[in-house]
Amino acid sequence: RTYTKDDIIQIVEEEDVEFIRLQFTDMLGTLKNIAITASQLPKALEYACTFDGSCMEGFIWLEEEDMYLHPDPSTFEIFPWRPQQGKVARLLCDVYKCDGTPFESDSRQILKRTIKRAQEKGYTMEVGSECEFFLFHMDEEGNPTTVTHECAGYFDIDPMDFGENTRRDIVLTLEEMGFVIESSHHEVAPAQHEIVFRHSEALSAADDILTFKMVVRTIAKKHGLHATFMPKPKSESAGSGMHLNLTLQKEGRNLFFDEKDPYGLSREAYYFIGGLMKHIGAVSLFTNPIVNSYKRLIPGFDAPIYANWSVKKKSALIRIPFEKEGKKWIELRSPDASANPYLALAVCLAAGMDGIERKILPPSCIDEQEYRGRSQKLEETCRLPKSLLEAVEAFEQDELMQSVIGKELSQKYIQTKKKEYREYCAQVTAWELEQYLYRI
Ligand code: GLN
Ligand code: MG
Ligand code: MG
Ligand code: MG
Repeated sequence: RTYTKDDIIQIVEEEDVEFIRLQFTDMLGTLKNIAITASQLPKALEYACTFDGSCMEGFIWLEEEDMYLHPDPSTFEIFPWRPQQGKVARLLCDVYKCDGTPFESDSRQILKRTIKRAQEKGYTMEVGSECEFFLFHMDEEGNPTTVTHECAGYFDIDPMDFGENTRRDIVLTLEEMGFVIESSHHEVAPAQHEIVFRHSEALSAADDILTFKMVVRTIAKKHGLHATFMPKPKSESAGSGMHLNLTLQKEGRNLFFDEKDPYGLSREAYYFIGGLMKHIGAVSLFTNPIVNSYKRLIPGFDAPIYANWSVKKKSALIRIPFEKEGKKWIELRSPDASANPYLALAVCLAAGMDGIERKILPPSCIDEQEYRGRSQKLEETCRLPKSLLEAVEAFEQDELMQSVIGKELSQKYIQTKKKEYREYCAQVTAWELEQYLYRI
């Protein structure tokens, strides 16, 4: 959708919208907002709404300064779940400094910057994401649990699938908000679900991921359930991923497809895969940014462990699906939905572009390596980070990825993530108590 400022003012009046939420994200990808009344909308659309950035994650060094919000008219959306009189709408915003220049560490603008750099060379990235999540019960006080009474599995249906009604409501709400839902299904683990919406250009794909998560959580709550995108909420069950299907366009043409290649991949596609694999350590810090992310990346649950690619294996980092409507995609399977989607897509695009610019060829696909009986040795040499700390260390070694994120935010991010890891390591866990308290 393309709305002008005047369109929005008109819709707000006609639709009786009372509140508008100006939304933006901190560096961790948490959606924040400031609510304004309709009377303040013209002022907000002239970029005159300020907030105090001093206590936001990733905004901290700008201690005293006011920041400005620049709403993006194309992101205007009315919340269908709010009352029909005195409606609530939202606008996603870019963050600007009080001197009128873009705030360098605003994650939405980091992605915009990266997109622009690729566009200058003629490339546009399209992204289709597959977000998985659990629907758990809440306790009497309304706190989330990891409890579910359902035992449905992959593609199961009602009455086994207790979440079906909730999922249907989520899908209908998303459709009301302009999402095109391609499919939705029950995932492998009990209470685990997936809803796939239509791919789009990278910036709107990242916006959509944030909106999607907000809608899923809100509608689940209405049904008395807690939706979580936590990568690995239960040690014995499959984790939740956020597979990213990626492709490049140039002059309106899909650049990844070459029918002459045995796998249907073009030169550029190979280089893009090569770049992603080369930078995957640093990329992981943004596609898998929390301690818990690394508990999902273990064998046995269709999540990747090695930096490899395959035409069919679900345990590969990158899988190559069949082409659809003359379009070839690659599926990056490591990301999870704890990621800040702007930063995750920015590093993926930059890593792929580095592959193209420097003509980085990936190793042969594991299907071939296995055929030749040498999979194990090769696989062992290129493991994904085993922990958040390993990902931080890989990022510290990767100058290109640091330049994508920017100097200031890189430092802040490294510092925050090291602290998170230290705190985690200092915890005495339930597992340890169970193992040692009686025995030792
Ligand atoms: N849940 C798996 C993951 O962690 C993916 C399973 C699937 O989509 N088939 O990535
Ligand atoms: Mg899927
Ligand atoms: Mg899935
Ligand atoms: Mg998938």
